Amino acid sequence: MSDNHRIQKLRNKYLSQSFSLSYDEPLHLVSGRGQYLYDSKGNEYLDAVNNIQHVGHSHPKVTEAANEQFKKLNTNTRYLDETILDYARALTDKLPSSLNKCYFTNSGSESNDLALRIARNHSNSKETIVLEGAYHGHVTSLIEISPYKHDGPGGKGPPDYVHVVPIPDPYRGIYRGPSSGLKYAAEVETILHEIRSNGKRVSSFIFEPIMGCGGQIIPPNGFLSSSLKMIRDHQGICIADEVQVGFGRMGDSFWGFETQDIVPDIVSLGKSIGNGHPLSVVVTSEELSDEFNNGMEYFNSFGGNPVSCAIGLAVLNVIEEEELQKNALKVGNKLKSLLNELKSVHDIIGDVRGKGLFLGIEIIKDLATLEPYQKMAHKIVNEMRNKGILLSSDGPDHNVIKIKPPMVFNGANALFLVETLDKILSKK
Ligand code: PMP
Repeated sequence: MSDNHRIQKLRNKYLSQSFSLSYDEPLHLVSGRGQYLYDSKGNEYLDAVNNIQHVGHSHPKVTEAANEQFKKLNTNTRYLDETILDYARALTDKLPSSLNKCYFTNSGSESNDLALRIARNHSNSKETIVLEGAYHGHVTSLIEISPYKHDGPGGKGPPDYVHVVPIPDPYRGIYRGPSSGLKYAAEVETILHEIRSNGKRVSSFIFEPIMGCGGQIIPPNGFLSSSLKMIRDHQGICIADEVQVGFGRMGDSFWGFETQDIVPDIVSLGKSIGNGHPLSVVVTSEELSDEFNNGMEYFNSFGGNPVSCAIGLAVLNVIEEEELQKNALKVGNKLKSLLNELKSVHDIIGDVRGKGLFLGIEIIKDLATLEPYQKMAHKIVNEMRNKGILLSSDGPDHNVIKIKPPMVFNGANALFLVETLDKILSKK
C-alpha cells in the first residue's frame, strides 16, 4: 500500500467525512519554504494558492519570534504584557485613525462572530445585510450570514433576519459592466427600505472589499461607497471582512477597503495575519468599543496571548522589511497582464480579474453565453498540480481558478505559472 493510501485510510478512520482533500491525487506535504512546498517524495511545488502563509512558508523570522516567546512565557490577556501592546500599536498604525481598539481572537470566524456581536449590541437588532456568494466563516452565526454555505450543499437557507444582496459581479451578475455599481447599490437601498417598512432597524452590512469564495470579484465602482453611505443613513454598522485580502496583498494598498475608497466601522482580520498561526483580530472605533463594554467581560483563553502577538508583529515587520506590498503590486500586475495575453488566445478564459496577488481566471464553455465550465476548471487545477503548481477553484459555479500565493511569489514564478497554463490550455 502506498504511503498516501495508508494516510488516507487513517483519515477515513479517524476524521469526520466532512473534511475534504485538495486534488484528485491528494498531496502529502512534509515541508515548505517561501513560496515552495515539498511532498514526502521530495517533489517541489510552487504554491500559488496558500494566502495564509503570507510572508512565505516557515519564514525564519516568524518561527524565531514564536520560539523565543514560547520559551519565555505564554499567558493570557488578564496579565500586564507589553507584547500585545507593541503589536496592537503596530497594527493600528496601519489602519485609519478611527479604527483604534483591538480585540484578539483565534480565527477569522471568531472575529466575524465578534464583529456581528459588536454591531448587534450597537443597534439592538440582528438584521444583517450580506452579499450573495459570500463566505464569512464556519460557526453557526456565520453559516447563517454566508450564502456560500447556507445556499450550498447541505445548507438550509438564511434565517429571516439575514438579507442577501445580488452578487456585485460586473462580469456575469444581474447588472454588468464597470458602471453597474450604483445599480447594485440600489439593491441595498431596497433591502434597507424593506427592513424599515417591517418596523425593524438594520444592524450591519458585512462584506469583503474583494470577494474571495465569491470568485475573486472586484465590485464595480461606487457599489461599496454608496452602499456604506446608505447603511450609515439607516444607522447601520459597516463591517469589512479583510480575512482574505488584507496585509498588502492588493499591491497598491495595505487593506482591501482602501481600494474602494471607504472606511468601515469594524474590520475583521485573519488568515495571513499570523502566517499560519491561529491569530485573528477585530479592530473598531472607540465609540463602538465603549458601547460594547456593557458589563460583560471579553475574555478569550488564547486570543491575544504573547506568542500569537509576537508572531503577528514579526509578520508585520517582514512585510515591511521585504517590501512585500510592493512585490505584490509588481508581480501581480505582471501576472495579470500575462494572463490577459492568454485570455486573448484561449476562448475558454472568460475573464481575468483581481488586484495584486489576488487574481481569478474564470473558465467558461461559451463566450456568447458565458456558461461556466466547472469540470474544466477542476481539470486544469489538477493538471497544474501534476506539473508542480498549486491552485484552487471556487466561486458560486466553481469555475474560477484562484491565484493567491505567499507574497514572496516572484516574476519567474509568474512566468512559469503562465507558461505551464498555456501548455495545458493549448491541448484542450
Ligand atoms: N472570512 C473570509 C472572507 C474567509 O475567506 C474565511 C475563511 N476562508 C473566513 C472569514 C473564516 O476564517 P477561519 O477559517 O479562520 O475561521
